This record gives sequence, C-alpha cells and structure tokens, in this order.
Amino acid sequence: MVNSLLMQADQAAGPGDGKKECHVSVHQVDRFKFAILLPPLFVLSIIGCLYVVFVCWHLEPMLQQNVPVEKRNPDVLLRGQVEGALFHLLTFMILYCYISAVITHPGTVPNTAEWQLDWDQPQHKEQGDVAANEWKRTGERRYCKWCGKYKPDRCHHCRVCKQCILRMDHHCPWIMNCVGYHNYKYFFLLVWYSAVDCWYIALSMLTSVHKAVNEETEFTDLFMLVFGETLAILMGFLVVLFFSFHIWLMTRATTTIEFCEKSTKGDGVSGWKSAYDVGVVRNIFEVLGPTPWLWLLPISFPEGDGTSFFTVDKEVVKSRASGYKRDRRSLRES
Ligand SMILES: [Zn+2]
Ligand SMILES: [Zn+2]
Repeated sequence: MVNSLLMQADQAAGPGDGKKECHVSVHQVDRFKFAILLPPLFVLSIIGCLYVVFVCWHLEPMLQQNVPVEKRNPDVLLRGQVEGALFHLLTFMILYCYISAVITHPGTVPNTAEWQLDWDQPQHKEQGDVAANEWKRTGERRYCKWCGKYKPDRCHHCRVCKQCILRMDHHCPWIMNCVGYHNYKYFFLLVWYSAVDCWYIALSMLTSVHKAVNEETEFTDLFMLVFGETLAILMGFLVVLFFSFHIWLMTRATTTIEFCEKSTKGDGVSGWKSAYDVGVVRNIFEVLGPTPWLWLLPISFPEGDGTSFFTVDKEVVKSRASGYKRDRRSLRES
C-alpha cells in the first residue's frame, strides 16, 4: 500500500521537479474516468463490511433485543451499549475525515500578480527580491509551464488534478484528490481513526469469535465473525504501517514527494535533514495546528497559507504555541 502510494506520488508530481515524464495522457485519464471511482468504492466497501459484521454479529447478540427484558444479562447489555457507542463515534470520525479529505481543496497557487509567470523574464536567484528556498538548478525561480505561475516552495503540479498543489504530499486515488496543504490534516486523521477503529474492532470481537469457535454455532455466523476479525487485523496492520510512515514524515517536516525525490536521487534518507525541519514539535504545529489538545480532532489547522514555510535559516523558533502564532505572522510579513 505504501509502495503503491509512493509510486502514485511519483507519477502525479509534475514537470520541473527533476522527475521522469509520466506517459499517462490526459485523454487516457478522461477515458477511464469510471476507474477513478473504484478505489473509493473499495474503501467504502471495507468500511461497510466491517460495520455490518460488527453490528450484526457482535453487537446485536450483546444487546439481546430478542430476549425478554427480565432475562437479559445487564453486564453484557452494558458492554454492548458502551462498545456500540464507541464504535459509532469512531465510524463517524472516519467518515467525517474521509468526506472532508475528498471535498477539501488541497490548495493551489494564488491568482495574485506576484505569482503570475513572466514568460519573457523569468526571475533569477541573483535578483534577490524573492524569499524562496527552492530554485531550479539553472538559478531560475521555479515555475509551472502548465499553470503559467511561479511555484511556491514545496508546491508541485499534479497531472491528475491538472493544477499546482501547495505543499503537495501525493495524489491519493483512495480519496480521488491530492493530499496537500489544506487537507493533509484530514488525510492524516483519516489514517489515524482507521487504525484505531480496525484494532478496536479486532480486539472487541475476539470474545465473539472465541465463543463462536468453541460453541455450537451456525456456519454463516462463524464465517462472518472470522471474516470480520481477519479483515480488521489485516487492515489494522496495513494502516498502522502507513500511519507510522506519515508520523515519520511529519516529525521530519517532509512530504511523500520530498521523501521520494531524496530516495530516487540516490542520496538516501538516513541522516538527511529537511530544510523545513525546525524541531519535532514545531514540525507538528505546521501540520496539525498550534493547539496540541486539538491535534487528533479535525478542527484547528495550521495558520499559514501554504506558500511560505519556516526553514532552518529563517528559524524564529519558540517552543510555546503563543510564540508560534507570533512567528507565523512575522513569516507572512517577511
Ligand atoms: Zn501547475
Ligand atoms: Zn492530484
């Protein structure tokens, strides 16, 4: 899964990034429009499968709806109610983050004059009036020939979305959208809640699976419980692996594309430090927002606009969140 996403990121990043040309033409993308619906449908069908198995084969027996009130086991009933409430909360968070990641625009280059490309006189590094960290090898300011605009740092052109994406991480077929500056937190939390939910399902259902295996149970019930348990564990491992990768990227102030660029250039990533790495906590502020107790909720976002970033050179680091807000203002004004 990680590999497929890395490959997708590599294909989706646009020209001018020192990458190989992608040979998927616009015509081909249009022609297979239906195909882009398959990954989201696959994701939704897995969520649906786990939901049905958990509710019908695990929760329902515990809620004892078909048992007369006086014969119900109150301990089992309470457990069913608590597990059901937590499960539905997690499912809601997954769907909220998923829909938000799909419909939130990741951010593109503003239409203001400062970003409009001057075809006759592309700006050069020596001119010294542009506060950019990334430049072309020729000394020219980075620009996108498709959009006709200069590129802010960490911005890449996505061939699938046909536009430049601010702090592009990768184009994600599972959400039919690019993961960029404005929807990265939704994407990150989607993976987080999915990991928690998969392991919550796997651990909660263990008692039901154990009971079904050891007691006389109809084949359909046994099959569905073992199927749900296996699916939850399998997805749990994959999602935790993917989440760990994104934790690693976030704490090192790196995107998937930057990681791929570093890996494919043969420099290796061990010992490499991103120019945007201004310390683990500050790096997390830049992705999950300035309020630590809201980091794992889909509210409170980074305060920047996706066109300027702290770098080691421009470091004005304060360890407190109030300092972060003040520094963000001074970064915008610089
Ligand atoms: Zn572009
Ligand atoms: Zn895209």
